[in-house]
Amino acid sequence: MRPMALEDRYPNLHVSRHPLVAHKLSLLRDKRTDPKQFRELVRELSWLIGYEAMADLTTQPRPIETPLEAMDGLRVEPKVGLIPVLRAGLGMVEAVLELMPSAEVWHIGLYRDERTLKPVEYYNKLPDAATVQVCLILDPMLATGGSSAATVDILKAWGAARIKQVSLIAAPEGIATLSGAHPDVDIHVAAVDRELNQRGYIVPGLGDAGDRQFGTFAGPASEPGHAHDETAEIVRRLQRNLRAP
Ligand code: URA
Repeated sequence: MRPMALEDRYPNLHVSRHPLVAHKLSLLRDKRTDPKQFRELVRELSWLIGYEAMADLTTQPRPIETPLEAMDGLRVEPKVGLIPVLRAGLGMVEAVLELMPSAEVWHIGLYRDERTLKPVEYYNKLPDAATVQVCLILDPMLATGGSSAATVDILKAWGAARIKQVSLIAAPEGIATLSGAHPDVDIHVAAVDRELNQRGYIVPGLGDAGDRQFGTFAGPASEPGHAHDETAEIVRRLQRNLRAP
């Protein structure tokens, strides 16, 4: 019997099947890709995955006149908000703004505690009531899912009607965490990788998406093999949850 595909288990998960996405993602993963090319590829992939993520936006008729006659055109109905997860999500904003120039960009700062992998909020200037209906959370790497689930909590409390996660690579553990907490949130990705390693990195992955975009490479203490005990334990717990029926 065929093992249950993640997309069967999580109907909110949408993995791109487009060959251009697969091609560009392979270039992105390659460790020889330098920060300039890496940023360009993040932008191109964000455009493609963002395009797929917005395929179900509702439209309204809009009367227009072509040079030949009047007709009913269409306009996208909901207001869209982009919420880049700092800092790696910043590289995805411009591409999605190209697709949806009227989108609002709201920043929520959550950092991942390096030991516990838990999200800690340090920046949030959302106004009292939601100003958009559809929110796209932009984060190239859906790893543990902790930051995304916490961002969705904030956006739901704000009043966002519809929330989608737009990522380039996801780990099964992150998909399980986000879908478990928020099954109504669609997840759009270019690929789902094998697993998280003991440091909370997606493998095979592409390394640190922030460092690779911005050329800020960390020292040996952050390299694979230097796992904190707490981090490794949290990853083991996420992996146990994933295996649970
Ligand atoms: N964040 C990254 O940048 N890379 C990973 O593999 C996981 C989280």
